[in-house]
Amino acid sequence: MNIAKDKVVSIDYTLTNDNGEVLDSSSGREPLAFLHGHGNLIPGLEKELDGKVKGDKLVAIIAPDQAYGIRSEELVQEIPMANFQDASQVKVGVQFQVENEHEVRIATVTAVGESSATVDMNHPLADQTLHFDVEVMDVREATAEELEHGHVHGAGGHHH
Ligand code: ZN
Repeated sequence: MNIAKDKVVSIDYTLTNDNGEVLDSSSGREPLAFLHGHGNLIPGLEKELDGKVKGDKLVAIIAPDQAYGIRSEELVQEIPMANFQDASQVKVGVQFQVENEHEVRIATVTAVGESSATVDMNHPLADQTLHFDVEVMDVREATAEELEHGHVHGAGGHHH
């Protein structure tokens, strides 16, 4: 079975940056399972996996615009301290999730002043070219429920 939209794909992977540093890996864990074609992976990696079959191995080098995006200074913002639920938790390096109607972003506190903090909402991997070393462990049909939810249930996926 070839990888295509609406298939459930399991992969083992190691993600490294341009310097060869390992950023993430499924090594020692169960393979990552995802519903293909639903934006659960970065676009560049979905594209590279299209049409592959169980047992295929590939090295995919993904440019930032097909990965976590290009850094934007508009995503660096001054937030008044009064807007934080607990100002004592606001420290340089602290990360938290910010949700709007479209997406969840990871925000990182980069500076803390008397009455405001600077928060960077660029993805921590923005501007980075990503190197994925991937092995396709399984490809199967999605269940009706998985298609309805837009994500995988069971091993390697969501549990609920
Ligand atoms: Zn679900």
